[in-house]
Amino acid sequence: MQYNRRLWLQQSFMAFAGLTVGSKASAANNQYSYASASPPGAILLNANENPYGPSRLAQKAIMDNYLQMNRYPDDYISPVQKKIAAHWGVEPSNILMGAGSSEIIGLALLHASLNKKKIITAEPGYKVWNGQAASMGMDFTRIPLTNERKTDLSAMAAAIDGATGMVYICNPNNPTGTFVEVAALKNFTVEAAKKTLVFIDEAYTEYANLASLATLAITNTNIIVAKTFSKIYGLAGARVGYAIAHADTIKKLATYQPWPNASVSVTAVAAAMASLDDVNFVNHCRIKNEEAKKECYETFHRLSLDHIPSATNFILFSIDPIKKDLVKEMEARNIFLQYRGHFGGKWCRVTVGTNEEMKAFCKALTEIV
Ligand code: PLP
Repeated sequence: MQYNRRLWLQQSFMAFAGLTVGSKASAANNQYSYASASPPGAILLNANENPYGPSRLAQKAIMDNYLQMNRYPDDYISPVQKKIAAHWGVEPSNILMGAGSSEIIGLALLHASLNKKKIITAEPGYKVWNGQAASMGMDFTRIPLTNERKTDLSAMAAAIDGATGMVYICNPNNPTGTFVEVAALKNFTVEAAKKTLVFIDEAYTEYANLASLATLAITNTNIIVAKTFSKIYGLAGARVGYAIAHADTIKKLATYQPWPNASVSVTAVAAAMASLDDVNFVNHCRIKNEEAKKECYETFHRLSLDHIPSATNFILFSIDPIKKDLVKEMEARNIFLQYRGHFGGKWCRVTVGTNEEMKAFCKALTEIV
């Protein structure tokens, strides 16, 4: 209720100021908008984006700052580092900005690959960066998830040897949406960091309401935590992420950037700072996400489709019993999902969209099955 009122006030302010930001419709009317690359009315449930973002405060920050786009972001870097540091109770020297957490993963890989070539990761896990690691000559030791489909910390610990350059842990894990308890992860990280670099990808912690390992990371040069504004903050297209680590590790990672901290744009940083203030928006997204997930679970139950309860904004469900090509059938209905081959079977990962989008997804799924 309160959120809606705030939204209304902001929308009225923007309308008064003649600003037309935020809606897909306004983007589609803009000759330089590429949103139309997706078919009109497409329901995009394939990239774990937040359908509600950017928040109204972020939109306003972008509009308030876009005229600074002729300037380099220098003057914005220190404020955003300070703001993020205060958010986590660490120092600005513990923060390194990047174009999404993807850039942070790349910097950590580069750092690790200079010494050792083995990388330990979960299977299934988040793989987008794997090609980059391979091009740096790194080999993978992939540790299967436990029977509960969670990251197997003991097996990972056992796999660390003298050749290991980095352990990558995504918690909660993409694509399963499962998580290991933070206390267990901390214990693992402290022990593993005695032997190798430990990279903790916290892209989805806000959805899961999980504590960060930020304050642990800053005490140990062998721990890097990666955060992103692409998920619950709804800024995937703005490309803002950051590392939280010991000041010496931050300094080291910064040497691999052509221009340290400057791969984020002026408007992206302004939006990120405003997003951190928009606590109501984050709570709103979390609540809506849970509501929409419930509807999906009910549908999966009704259709007897095995699925993994998720702490994130995506759900992995089995499509083995479905005889048709689900992804194609969905695409014919303008709904986009990701096919995944896991656990020796066929699965699909569906991002949790708005309640309306998930109703459309559930209806289409029911028809197809
Ligand atoms: N880490 C995980 C686990 C992800 O799922 C993603 C994107 O889907 C990323 C990192 C990359 O996010 P970005 O580069 O947008 O911060």
